[in-house]
Amino acid sequence: MSPFAQTMLALGLGLGLCLAGGSACRSEDASPEASAAAIGRAALDDMTPYRTVESLTTEVGQRLAGTEAHARAVLWAQAKLKELGFENVHIEDFLITAWIRGAETATVTSPAIQQLAVTALGGSVATDPNGIEAEIALFRSYAELLASPPGSLAGKIAVVTQRMVRAADGGGYGAANPIRRAGPSEAARRGAVAYLLRSLATDNHRLPHTGALNYQEGAPRIPAAALSMPDADQLERLAARGKVRLRLVLTPTTRDNAPSWNVVGEVKGREHPEQIVLIGAHLDSWDLGTGATDDGAGVGIVTSVGRLIAALPQHPRRTLRVVLFGSEEMDNSGPAYAAAHADEAKNIVIAAEADFGAREVYAAQLPPGAADSAFAKSLSEAIAPLGAFLDRRPALGGGDDMRGLQKAGVPVTSLRQNGLDYFDTHHTADDTLDKIDPKQLSQATSVWAAFVYLAAETDVDFRALAAAAPH
Ligand SMILES: [Zn+2]
Repeated sequence: MSPFAQTMLALGLGLGLCLAGGSACRSEDASPEASAAAIGRAALDDMTPYRTVESLTTEVGQRLAGTEAHARAVLWAQAKLKELGFENVHIEDFLITAWIRGAETATVTSPAIQQLAVTALGGSVATDPNGIEAEIALFRSYAELLASPPGSLAGKIAVVTQRMVRAADGGGYGAANPIRRAGPSEAARRGAVAYLLRSLATDNHRLPHTGALNYQEGAPRIPAAALSMPDADQLERLAARGKVRLRLVLTPTTRDNAPSWNVVGEVKGREHPEQIVLIGAHLDSWDLGTGATDDGAGVGIVTSVGRLIAALPQHPRRTLRVVLFGSEEMDNSGPAYAAAHADEAKNIVIAAEADFGAREVYAAQLPPGAADSAFAKSLSEAIAPLGAFLDRRPALGGGDDMRGLQKAGVPVTSLRQNGLDYFDTHHTADDTLDKIDPKQLSQATSVWAAFVYLAAETDVDFRALAAAAPH
């Protein structure tokens, strides 16, 4: 018998007992707190999360939105959700502008030829096929670039080598994000013809980290790429010695009106099926690695939570909905989902996305006003034995794909994972399965499972808690 089945039987929640018509089927036999704790304990020994990531990264591999591989990932996801016991498995389609990587090289041409390791930013326009060659203007901080006057970068390739800070909560990434997102347009406004940044990362390997940029209205669109850490260092040293010229070749292409899909599965609530606890992860990945930690791990977590909940002798009172988003990396799937479900937003009790790697969850942050609720007390007790605590600070966000729903008034939660080394391999060729510790992934899943069960089985109303909270 599996540890999961043993735990459920020990609590009188055994599937066998239930099918035999035993009293263990009734909800009053175990409190929601006890059941949440039991589900969490069972998840600790459950290898389904790792097996799921292994399956996805092996059988599909990379799955950049808009590619044939992403379409295969969608078929994989539908089959996997059915296999894991979900109901109402379906896809919801939307259109995107697909961005497909091309050639990408950077060569120092003066004072002497040297190759640099670079990768194009998602959404970057292409250079001329022969590349663009220009002198560089190097800034060791993004603030220095922003302080440079209009026209000061005319005809130059702007290079920003600011370092991102390593922190367990990933705060360094958020703080540095504008360097990648807005940097290309800020450089272009000052006359730059191309843009390079030190990868937003914490490793020192010679692998550049990709990621999306956002061109701003009114600024010329210039090609943009990320340098590996050692290459950013190299450019700093070269620039300190004198003028540096560089040739950049980027040949990505785009395709408008490419199909994309969110894949959905549910465990229908037994009393209030219209009330939804929505959890998600994103199925798309960058194309350089196999997207194991970003976000195969999240796919493993949320689908395994669904499997555990679906296998209970009776479903929780509310519906659990799992959404595998189809185009997170290029910011398309969250807005598409929120737009398609605007009328339903009021029925979504809580929403959250697992998208911060494969390490352990150490804390849970609830929506504003919930930290002193009975729900928080129950959650705190259920997750303490799993190795996580209730962080009294309110969740600011629920993940990139949840922003649209959050704007529509849906409460969001944040289960905080240890991200100390997440940005060592994030968005690189090195984001592969070997980086995942199966036990840590199961621990993360256990906290998610306890949270989801409590949110779906109790009548917690996060909107009411937020409204009642002192402002
Ligand atoms: Zn991600």
